Amino acid sequence: MRFFVETYGCQMNVADSEMVTSMLIQAGHTPATNIDDAQLIVFNTCSVREHAEQRVLGRIANEKHRKQQNPDLKIAVVGCMAQRMGKRLMELESGVDFVFGVDQYDKLAEILANDSPIQNHWTEMDNEQVYHGILPTRLNRHCGFVTVMRGCDNFCSYCIVPYVRGRERSRPASDIVKEVEEATLEGFRDITLLGQNVNSYQNEGMDFASLLRELNQIDPLWRLRFVTSHPKDLSDNLIQTMADCDKICEHIHLPMQSGDDDVLFRMNRGYGSRHYYDLITRLRTAIPDIALTTDVLVGFPGETERQFENTLELMRQIQFDYAFCFKYSPREGTAAAKSTDQIPEELRLERLQKTIDLQREITLHKFRSQIGKRVEVYVEDFSRKSHEQVSGKTRDFKIAVLSGTSDQIGSLVEAKVIDATAGTLICL
Ligand code: SF4
Repeated sequence: MRFFVETYGCQMNVADSEMVTSMLIQAGHTPATNIDDAQLIVFNTCSVREHAEQRVLGRIANEKHRKQQNPDLKIAVVGCMAQRMGKRLMELESGVDFVFGVDQYDKLAEILANDSPIQNHWTEMDNEQVYHGILPTRLNRHCGFVTVMRGCDNFCSYCIVPYVRGRERSRPASDIVKEVEEATLEGFRDITLLGQNVNSYQNEGMDFASLLRELNQIDPLWRLRFVTSHPKDLSDNLIQTMADCDKICEHIHLPMQSGDDDVLFRMNRGYGSRHYYDLITRLRTAIPDIALTTDVLVGFPGETERQFENTLELMRQIQFDYAFCFKYSPREGTAAAKSTDQIPEELRLERLQKTIDLQREITLHKFRSQIGKRVEVYVEDFSRKSHEQVSGKTRDFKIAVLSGTSDQIGSLVEAKVIDATAGTLICL
């Protein structure tokens, strides 16, 4: 069977799609070069915001015409939305044939091989599931994702993740080390470790800092990154490890969410604005050139104008290199969705726009402050605009574009920044 996987959502989903691809290949199926050529379409879905779910439902509905032309075409939905909606996805007359929750991907190949499976939805949660021994088929040729843990125990009051991805569990350190080593043998030089809260990694007597120190010794590796960190679990030991290990890049993504203590408390984030600011200070003291990126969530139930201003103020004080800004989206089953003081959609949008505008200004300033500096770029591909230019990332996670040829793809290049937009460094 030729299959095509379409992925929505975060990097965890990208990594899961790479794993699903491996499972299907191992079972004798072949990746289709494009969706038109597929006999099986797998939608790997996201539930974090209502908009993300609506988008996928729209996409699946669009594929119904394909099924009319080709009645043998199968559609499978996997991922967080499959976990959350389960059988209901099939009751929407969406043309969906199979639904697999996040802990049931290993059933996919077996079920597809069966002409008349007795069941078409598999959404049981398995809090032990770490997909032991499955090496992903990576989509990017140079930068790879390695999942170190699955699930989350934090229950932030706005977040659906713990309900759809289950309890936190860490993969054995020996499996992770082996997977990173194998990735370097395939030519990957930039590895990002993934988990909902990597700072609470714990397995085989190793915490996250010790895991990083071990991975830092894998020689063919050039760059090591990780996402996502949680401000309540980011220890001084981890900060020191980042400073000590030459392969760990000078960048951290540390979701702030709000700059107001009362809102942070009601979000169940487990830290206050002072703690967050102190962490930033400690990071900048230990790693002076560190780039900081964050997530900001505005319009949380009950957020007053003053509390929203506190968020903008903390963003001004910290000056993040980049911020992913979101408006609150109620998710059925979470504590915040039951709150009676929901902020009107119009006001949420207005606050979101103000947050985006502020951050765009800061990001532009941050990127332009790089002009004149020399940066190390790991060249990943041609630039989107021209085959006379190549693009890649700096150690501090900025996209850089420079004149170059295909020979440079997959290598480290030192370049001088001559201009910048709020998203790209233009280099020479
Ligand atoms: S840490 Fe909070 S926001 Fe992140 S996945 Fe867990 S519950 Fe969701």
